[in-house]
Amino acid sequence: MRGMLIHDNNNTVAHKHTELMKRFHNKGTLWTAVHRIIETPLFVDSQLTSMVQVADLWSYALRRYYENGESDLLDILFVRADRKGSVVVGVRHYADLACSCKVCVAHKRPALPTATLATP
Ligand SMILES: [Zn+2]
Repeated sequence: MRGMLIHDNNNTVAHKHTELMKRFHNKGTLWTAVHRIIETPLFVDSQLTSMVQVADLWSYALRRYYENGESDLLDILFVRADRKGSVVVGVRHYADLACSCKVCVAHKRPALPTATLATP
């Protein structure tokens, strides 16, 4: 599977983001190589592209949650986050493993039941 980045058209950052993606393709990011994302991002007018508007809404809700501690909007959206079973996989927060924010808590797999050792 391959992915593509679609950005809101912004002439100020379009050139910068295109060059950044080329660099990621050549050298990878701080964390990993980039093999499955098409090299050049597409820039679209967000007023004409509903999926970019949805991404903007999510970004706004997440920013309000992490910067201001406001969860009203995120609570409405979060029930629609992609899940695999009961684990939220459509939204990630890359933070310390001890983070207890709603995104990290929802992303953690439920703990497996601990085995009880039977004594002979
Ligand atoms: Zn977190």
